[in-house]
Amino acid sequence: MHAEVIAIGDELTTGQRLDTNSQWLSTELGLLGIPVLFHTTACDTLEAGIEAFQAAVSRCDVVVATGGLGPTADDLTRDVLAAVAGEPLELSAAALAAVEARFARRAAAMPESNRRQAMFPRGSRIIPNPDGTAPGIDLDVRRPDGSTSRIIALPGVPSEMRMMWRGTVESALAAMQPDAGVFVHRRIKCFGAGESAVEEMLPDLIRRGRDPLVGITAHEATITLRIVARGRDRAECLTKIAPTEQTIRDCLGAHVYGVDDDEVEDAAVRALAAAGQTLGTVEIGTEGRVSACLAHAEAQRQMQLQPHEPAATVYRGSTVLPAFAGIAHDHSITGMQALAERARTEFKATLGLAIGAARPGPDGRSVVDIALSDGQQIERIEHMLGGGPSLALSRAAKTAIDLVRRTLAPRMAAP
Ligand code: ATP
Repeated sequence: MHAEVIAIGDELTTGQRLDTNSQWLSTELGLLGIPVLFHTTACDTLEAGIEAFQAAVSRCDVVVATGGLGPTADDLTRDVLAAVAGEPLELSAAALAAVEARFARRAAAMPESNRRQAMFPRGSRIIPNPDGTAPGIDLDVRRPDGSTSRIIALPGVPSEMRMMWRGTVESALAAMQPDAGVFVHRRIKCFGAGESAVEEMLPDLIRRGRDPLVGITAHEATITLRIVARGRDRAECLTKIAPTEQTIRDCLGAHVYGVDDDEVEDAAVRALAAAGQTLGTVEIGTEGRVSACLAHAEAQRQMQLQPHEPAATVYRGSTVLPAFAGIAHDHSITGMQALAERARTEFKATLGLAIGAARPGPDGRSVVDIALSDGQQIERIEHMLGGGPSLALSRAAKTAIDLVRRTLAPRMAAP
């Protein structure tokens, strides 16, 4: 069984918006064991839509599309599907009632155009949309040889599309191949080494056909190793994943900071809490990135606390200063320690983290000084700025935050 993903919208074909839906859907289809053979992007015209769907139906068993299900005149996906299936559009009383109820809840009159969202090609199964007005369409289209291709059409809004996938589509597609077993994936998150350096540290894990499969991706200096196992059930997959995960952890050591959706800042606040430490920061020229990341991670941690865990806040606060206001500071070790101490004492924390303003480095590249002080010892990094301006700042911020995690890790391991 193979799939094609179709993204519909002038916004996409004119380059105004990046098609992230297809990327997400392809990953999900891959995890269901349904390889994606083609990605197609079509503009909002009836002709382009019909051509795209006809080609997809002729070559793939499953076609997942997003976009063009809205109420406006340029939302033509339902008309395209009716034409491709050779079926008329029919009003679904149940879908109309759901759209009307949504407007009634907001005490708003339903515009006549929204009736279109309750029209489906005859023979469609309706995919509920808990978060929007446009239900999705699940439709089998017969090919000339009598076989069928299944079209799943979802709204373009990414959050609605994902919710409908999780709520309805994922299990429906998994049921089409009952013998395929299940897929389980686990992401090992690393920071502090580049993508190729990480790959070199691992024995031949990242290769086609391996079971479990290991893939590597990089995003803003965070490296993710994704392990995907296929088995009869979840337990079998987890048994397959465990030794591969252990190998990765053994090879990468302190570069591994977490799993799945963890960010470096989540690991840092967890490390602070586990070590019984608190943190205050001062950042110059990073536009509050350190503060924003830590505040968010701390809020998340607080929400997930168990009743028996201490609720004390480990991230105490931050001073955010601009780099362009003529702020001069001493970049030497003593100068940076003084800055970190200022953060530590100002916020009555056990640790102070300071990120200095960028200064010219030895080879013409800019350097950012980072220091972490506990009142006695100081950890210091000279971080070379790299990448575009915005990426460089967020890397510098993440590097500073990661220094907290790395410094505390050995103390947490101690009995
Ligand atoms: P709506 O009912 O909201 O009109 P729709 O099914 O008609 O939904 P579109 O109008 O095509 O969907 O897209 C709605 C919005 O969703 C777009 O403005 C865009 O922000 C986002 N979007 C659409 N397609 C994609 C895509 N492939 N990748 C990322 N975002 C997308």
